[in-house]
Amino acid sequence: MAQVSDHGGGIRSIEVPIPDNPLGHTLVYVVDTDRGPVLVDTGWDDPASWDTLAEGLAACGTSVREIHGVVITHHHPDHHGLAGKVREASGAWIAMHAADISIVQRTRETRPDRWFTYMAAKLAAAGAPEEHVTPLRTAPRRTLPGLSPALPDREIVPGELLDLAGRRLRAVWTPGHTPGHVCLHLEEDHPAGLPGHGRLFSGDHLLPEITPHIGLYEDPDDATVTDPLGDYLDSLERVGRLRPAEVLPAHQHAFTDAPGRVRELLAHHEARLTGLLTLLTTPLTPWQLAERMEWNRPWEQIPFGSRNIAVSEAEAHLRRLVKLGRAEAVAGGDPVTYVAV
Ligand SMILES: [Zn+2]
Ligand SMILES: [Zn+2]
Repeated sequence: MAQVSDHGGGIRSIEVPIPDNPLGHTLVYVVDTDRGPVLVDTGWDDPASWDTLAEGLAACGTSVREIHGVVITHHHPDHHGLAGKVREASGAWIAMHAADISIVQRTRETRPDRWFTYMAAKLAAAGAPEEHVTPLRTAPRRTLPGLSPALPDREIVPGELLDLAGRRLRAVWTPGHTPGHVCLHLEEDHPAGLPGHGRLFSGDHLLPEITPHIGLYEDPDDATVTDPLGDYLDSLERVGRLRPAEVLPAHQHAFTDAPGRVRELLAHHEARLTGLLTLLTTPLTPWQLAERMEWNRPWEQIPFGSRNIAVSEAEAHLRRLVKLGRAEAVAGGDPVTYVAV
């Protein structure tokens, strides 16, 4: 049975399962509008997830066919996955920030081959051991899951109200977790009268008990030196200043005191960056740094695919430290090493 919660004021959420993932589920929000229900995120593209979404919508007194529009917080498959199927069934529009639409476009156009080659080169440059890189070079070039995501047909423009009849929902650009991540600020009084300014659909940007993954924005066609962790920290301050009465995140559960949660996350990242500086008293490659960083389990127990994510996170932290002038690349190293300054 689909788990449906009523958040009041014409907002409900459906727990749509993510197969084989410790996160458990995506909270898909159903927002009533004068032209029919609009979804915030959709869930993973999997038959069981689709069935749960359909059941959940039925429990809300509507159906997939009735959906008027789909607002996507960011391009990740646990959010955008089912958007295409919803559009096929209902004729709904799909809206996303331009920076994430570009990623969707690129994902649709890039052959798996190109990705494997790019990732293998990137990991080798980060100091990954040969036995980690070889499987990427020799992997069968089959189609990867989520390789043909639906192309959105509307752009979410930061600062603007979305075109939702009878509702005030404003897009807030919160890059960091992805370059085009948005939060959506529902500028309406809280239905239970909680103090603060409206409610915030926070996607993966602000979650009650976990910190979202912040890695480098991977793009084989773009050599821009970005600073996703810096973007993320700025975006955190931006949503803290909104002072929403309640946060409606895409995972876990709704919560209050957004500014308090923002302060916790800022402190967490500051402590982590300081901890990394201690590790970087000797020069380390991004891979070596990832091996020494604290994760939710010992490095030896982290599976192959998750190590790539861990290294990307180490690289995002190095990027930030370099940008702050607290670390620098050691000249002439191959693979490159970084040291605290
Ligand atoms: Zn995500
Ligand atoms: Zn997510």
